[in-house]
Amino acid sequence: MQVDHHPLAGAALGTARTLTSYRFGPHDDAVPKVAIQASLHADELPGMVVAWMLKRRFAELEAQGRLNARIVLVPVANPAGLNQHWFGTQMGRFDMRSGQDFNRRFPELGPEVALQVKHRLGDDEAHNARLIRAALRETLAARPAASELESQRLTLMRLACDADLVIDLHCDWEAVAHLYTTPDAWPRIEPLARYLSSEAQLLADMSGSEPFDEACASVWRYLRGALGERFPIPPGVTPVTLELRGVRDVSRKLAERDAQAIVDYLTHLGMIRGEAPAMPPLAQAATPLAGCEYVASPVSGVLLHRRGIGERGRAGDVIAEVLDPLVDTLTPLVAQSDGLLYARHWTRFATAGMLVARIAGETASRHGDLLVP
Ligand SMILES: [Zn+2]
Repeated sequence: MQVDHHPLAGAALGTARTLTSYRFGPHDDAVPKVAIQASLHADELPGMVVAWMLKRRFAELEAQGRLNARIVLVPVANPAGLNQHWFGTQMGRFDMRSGQDFNRRFPELGPEVALQVKHRLGDDEAHNARLIRAALRETLAARPAASELESQRLTLMRLACDADLVIDLHCDWEAVAHLYTTPDAWPRIEPLARYLSSEAQLLADMSGSEPFDEACASVWRYLRGALGERFPIPPGVTPVTLELRGVRDVSRKLAERDAQAIVDYLTHLGMIRGEAPAMPPLAQAATPLAGCEYVASPVSGVLLHRRGIGERGRAGDVIAEVLDPLVDTLTPLVAQSDGLLYARHWTRFATAGMLVARIAGETASRHGDLLVP
């Protein structure tokens, strides 16, 4: 195991933060690379515990000579966000200086990399992939960071940009385990969904706003669109964001199970030498991210949930009621689609317009930015 410390640009005089990564596996560029990071939204801690367990497992596997892949692990992907507190409450997700979501606005590198490689690509797909990965590393190395936030984003991208598999560990408010990936990557991610017992698999080519996993993959997508007719270019990277249940689902027991699922998956891929256990059945077929219904409350009041996370329901079901105790009203929140309620807000007080719950429906009906704003 090799430890690397990456200094971030300081936000103010006298402050300096560092991002720490761990490297495992052969020192050989020819073997595949896996990048795993946790807690990009700072206060989403289940993945941080999983990453700690993975660090110990990978070190053991490396000592046994069982790693067939290079692995880069970042257990604490957002040291800047971890230090954001507002009168005793930790504030993750958004950078308090800029208001930006920590998992948006990762650089879209496709056009810049296309300019660099278009006169050097050839007929050999593997050669083209190496060329593109080198161009990605060079492009990111040359890019300056104007703020701590940008420096953190660039550091994370530099660590993952040339990976074959990118696993970004997040969690939701209150949720069952679920994941986001692309339709193209889904066949390769399905075994992970099975090992993890993921209950909703949400697919989109582009969910919008450049989240981390999509930024890693979109450069290959762009290059295949712009240059793929003339040159063979592989899909390059398999991206996935795992949502390890809700923010309070932080325990050794759950983390052990999730870390084991990731180890089993990497074994199944041949990246860890050994026999992968039999795959459990897929809990739920993949559905389009554009088919998710986002249920918001039209009024303010106390939320009284009627459907639990992980429960399936039908269009027309009341999933919650919003109580106004002053005028004695209970406003029903009615699902418009059949599907699994996979996530809901942790707060029990709704302001008017607040997003309350999300349902994984089967029919794509939304357009534009598909993620939670
Ligand atoms: Zn997150």
